[in-house]
Amino acid sequence: MTIGIIGGTGIYEIVELGEDAEKKVVETPYGPSPEMILFKLHDREVVFMSRHEVGHANPPHMINYRANIWALKEMGVERIMATNAVGSLDLSIRPGDLVVPHDFLDFTRMRKSTFYDDRVVHVDVTEPYCPELRDILISSGQVIGEGIYICTEGPRFETAAEIQMYRRLGGTVVGMTGLPEAVLARELEMCYTSICTVSNYGASISPDKLTIDEVFEEVEKKRPVLIGLISDSVSKIPENCSCPCGDALNGAEVKPTLESEDL
Ligand SMILES: [Zn+2]
Repeated sequence: MTIGIIGGTGIYEIVELGEDAEKKVVETPYGPSPEMILFKLHDREVVFMSRHEVGHANPPHMINYRANIWALKEMGVERIMATNAVGSLDLSIRPGDLVVPHDFLDFTRMRKSTFYDDRVVHVDVTEPYCPELRDILISSGQVIGEGIYICTEGPRFETAAEIQMYRRLGGTVVGMTGLPEAVLARELEMCYTSICTVSNYGASISPDKLTIDEVFEEVEKKRPVLIGLISDSVSKIPENCSCPCGDALNGAEVKPTLESEDL
């Protein structure tokens, strides 16, 4: 089983892990993938991809999420662990904490968010993040717990009123890149989980102005822990899945009726 790792802000390569790494770009129906790095880790095949591309060239709303996920599928990836930098919606969840989302609220507006533009496929996302991968991460003792990931369109940070709304809706953390990535992975029947690094408090949660520098600083500080967690988790992923993610399209598609085919 091949495992995919999608690196978010501050995680553009993982040279610490990759021995004898090979680099590869895949052409997809949605354009070329970012350069992927292939290597072995704990005897598992691993494909690493930098979500923002090398050098953080792409802002969140311009990332070609479909090309990214398609390319990982093309490489034989069945299970994905992603990293995301997020803001906290609660004072008790501090910069440097790691959170593993179990659900999301999607406030993105302009993104291509499905592979199925020419078929009617309603994929089930009752549990959008793979329960088996989540269990592995939670049981590591390195994360403070689960939570609800709020995804905004960006690239601006949120207003104080928006942050208060997200809190009232039950959000735990807020970021700009978790969607549609999680859904696209489900649409291709891949397991997907996210490790969120809290890099700052959301607007108005703390009195300080938000800057991207503090986001980078916090992710950089947490990087060794995050890389260690990913490495340990790869070694614990069982060869055979016991989760339902790989069967996501079963019962999801509307089959054209004879009448509609005749039209
Ligand atoms: Zn799964």
